[in-house]
Amino acid sequence: MSRVYNFAPGPAMLPEEALATAAAEMLDFGGTGMSVMEMSHRAKGYQAIFDEAAALIRELMGVPEKYTVLLLQGGATGQFAAVPLNLLKTSADYVDSGNFASGAMKQAQAYGTVRCVASSKGDNYDHIPAIDPAQLDPKADYLHITTNNTIFGTRWTSLPETGNVPLVADMSSNILSQPYDVSRFGVIYAGAQKNIGPAGLTVVIVRRDLLGTPSPLCPKILNWTLMDEKGSMLNTPPTYAVYMTGLCMKWLKKQGGVAGIYQVNQEKAKLLYGTLDDSSFYHPTARVSDRSLMNVTFTTPNPELDAQFVKEAAQNGLTNLKGHRLVGGLRASIYNAMPLEGVQALCAFLKKFEMENR
Ligand SMILES: *Cc1c(COP(=O)(O)O)cnc(C)c1O
Repeated sequence: MSRVYNFAPGPAMLPEEALATAAAEMLDFGGTGMSVMEMSHRAKGYQAIFDEAAALIRELMGVPEKYTVLLLQGGATGQFAAVPLNLLKTSADYVDSGNFASGAMKQAQAYGTVRCVASSKGDNYDHIPAIDPAQLDPKADYLHITTNNTIFGTRWTSLPETGNVPLVADMSSNILSQPYDVSRFGVIYAGAQKNIGPAGLTVVIVRRDLLGTPSPLCPKILNWTLMDEKGSMLNTPPTYAVYMTGLCMKWLKKQGGVAGIYQVNQEKAKLLYGTLDDSSFYHPTARVSDRSLMNVTFTTPNPELDAQFVKEAAQNGLTNLKGHRLVGGLRASIYNAMPLEGVQALCAFLKKFEMENR
């Protein structure tokens, strides 16, 4: 068996330790004689797995008591609808910083008045647009941002000041990668498959005072108030994805938690951007001040070399480096589970490829 360094944007690499534990427990979990996949979500044994995963997310992110942590299905895309269906009464503000940010905004337009308060679309989203505070509606039901733009490789380096307006964040691609003060947010949501665990689970963190007034049109499955009342088990939760997430969170705790992994993430990003910046062959595409620590976007001198790079990198055990079609070029996603050694191997390959093709 040989494992590759997988630079996929998501579903993405998982900690090997978590996969090995899951493999060892696959046929007989803790003497139950069955796989976690075969357990009823109403079984006592399963409830403990579920509670532990939720508690670890709460602990690692430092989520205050006045927030609920929901473990749901439907992905971040489901939450694009859930956010307005649970919060939008009169009008909501959105920042258009990328393809997913724009998707969230367009979905919300189906349910009420939505204002775009800043956009970097005109520059193909190569930076985080500046917000003119005068543009923000002090009476908005919420302001929606996307903390890390997975496709374009940008991130917010500081959060906007919103006063009493709840800040709602799609944190799918950088949750748990750097410390965030959760009390700055009204709602945080994330699909698990980038930086939490496997696909199928969606984490939604909601300040409790924002519960209780969903739209009458809100489907039960997207209703945070109902899901909170039912302990996220209104219907069958993604049982195995939750179990895997628990294993990944235990691994993260051993890395020193979010503060510990943030050090490693900064080191990885510094090494990779440094290698790209030191070369005149590669061109990073995101504005320097807004560079993502998780998704590093760049190009070679031409699309033919981009394609050749992807192919030869894969032959060297460095896979899934093709950029998203909206940006082209290359993208290395270096989430928490990507070890420093993976980035070192990529940097060595970058130098070798440049020497051979410049
Ligand atoms: C991947 C991603 C999404 C889409 O997530 P799904 O779980 O596939 O719905 C939304 N927002 C961001 C920032 C993403 O990275």
